[in-house]
Parts: sequence; structure tokens; C-alpha cells
Amino acid sequence: MPELKFDKTKCADCEAISCLVKCQYMDFEDKNKAKQEWQKLINGEDSSVLTSCTTCYACEEYCLFGNHPFYLIVERQEEKGILPAPRPIVTMWVNQCQPVGRFMVGKIEERALSYCFLPQFNTLVKGKLFDGIAWSAIFGQEFFCNAVYLHYAKASVIKDRLPKIIDNIRNQGIKELVCLHDECYGTFTSLAPAYGIDMPFRPIHYYEYLYGRLKELKDLIKPLNTKAAYQRNCS
Ligand code: SF4
Ligand code: SF4
Repeated sequence: MPELKFDKTKCADCEAISCLVKCQYMDFEDKNKAKQEWQKLINGEDSSVLTSCTTCYACEEYCLFGNHPFYLIVERQEEKGILPAPRPIVTMWVNQCQPVGRFMVGKIEERALSYCFLPQFNTLVKGKLFDGIAWSAIFGQEFFCNAVYLHYAKASVIKDRLPKIIDNIRNQGIKELVCLHDECYGTFTSLAPAYGIDMPFRPIHYYEYLYGRLKELKDLIKPLNTKAAYQRNCS
């Protein structure tokens, strides 16, 4: 079973405690108080952080030392049986995404698209942007990234299922995976390494893919003179 790579010696030397001080959902302007509370969490003691955390993921980026404060919070929530969501919802998610051995794949090439467990992504895949890759796609429980369980204090489900999901993708012969679902990209670039899981393929964010294709097709682009913004999701 993979184990979280969390280095508590980094926290001992950390003066910023930015994981809690920068948190938008807790009031930890006092760094000494933040340090005390964080130490309780490291020690496995009760902490207000465990019930106040909205599972927004942000402290994974606030920490400047590459530690994994949010993933540690999730581990501790699970150890203490603290559920950030109603139990029926958690149970529904655990059950509905269970791998069942049904591999939904297209004509797979070394570069493939992942729809994760969201069939609506299929509707985005059309036109010149997807020439040569549209049929090389995977979908379903066997390829589900599992990041959602970070919202449900279910690190154990991630540790059990994620290595199998990554194996399933590798076994398709995929070397580069274009993740249409942001959480897949977050899973493969952050969550898997945090748990020491080797990545046998290169994850590519959907927008990285689109940017590359737009550069390749630049002579066909007709400017709309419209500004657009992309708001990242939580993970
Ligand atoms: S998790 Fe990161 S930011 Fe938080 S105390 Fe540890 S080193 Fe500092
Ligand atoms: S994941 Fe929790 S502790 Fe971390 S920034 Fe978000 S609300 Fe705060």
C-alpha cells in the first residue's frame, strides 16, 4: 500500500506555516498558534483544522517546501472518522466508481485522451484540434483518477485504487495521456508522486494540448478579438 511522503522535519524548521496562515477558511494570522495547531495535526492529536478544512486543496501550493499538508489532513481525518461530507454521498462515490473490469477504450495509440469518468468530455472532441487523436481515448471506472476521495476523507480508497488505475493506463500502451479532466492531471502530477507511485506515462493538461495544437494550426486561426479567462478548479 503506498504511503504519503510527508516530511515532518520540514515543518519543524518552517517559520511561515503558510499551509494554515494562508488558508482562506481558517483564521490563523498568529503564526505561533498556527504552528501549535499544525503540530497537533502532525502528532495525530485532535485539531480544529480537521473539522474546519473545506478540502480546497490550496495549501498543497501554499507550502513552499514541497510537503503535502492537505494530503496529511485527509489522512488524519480518515484516521479519526471525520467526514467532510454526508456519509451517504461518500458511500455513493466510493461504490459508483469502483473498478469492475469494464475497459472502455477507443483505438488506442501511444498518445491518448482521458475522459476520466465524465462521458460529456466526448462532446468536446471534434474538429481539427483533435485530428489524429479523437479515437485514441479511454473512459470509465478503470481509468477514474480517484482525486475526489480527497474531499471525503478516503485516502485509503486512493491508495488502494490509484496504483491499479495507473497500471490500467500503462497496460494500454499509453505513453502520453491528455487529461481532459483537471483532476486527472492533478492526480498524476501531484497525488501519485506524493504517495511514491511511479508514473509510467506523461500526463498532459488539456490546455497544454490545446496550446500546442493552436500553435500547429496558427495559419488557420481567425482572431475573435475577445478576451477569455480560465479559472482553475480546486485541484
Ligand atoms: S506543511 Fe509546509 S507550510 Fe505547513 S508547516 Fe510544514 S513545511 Fe511549513
Ligand atoms: S485544504 Fe483545508 S487547510 Fe488547506 S487551504 Fe484548503 S481549507 Fe485550508
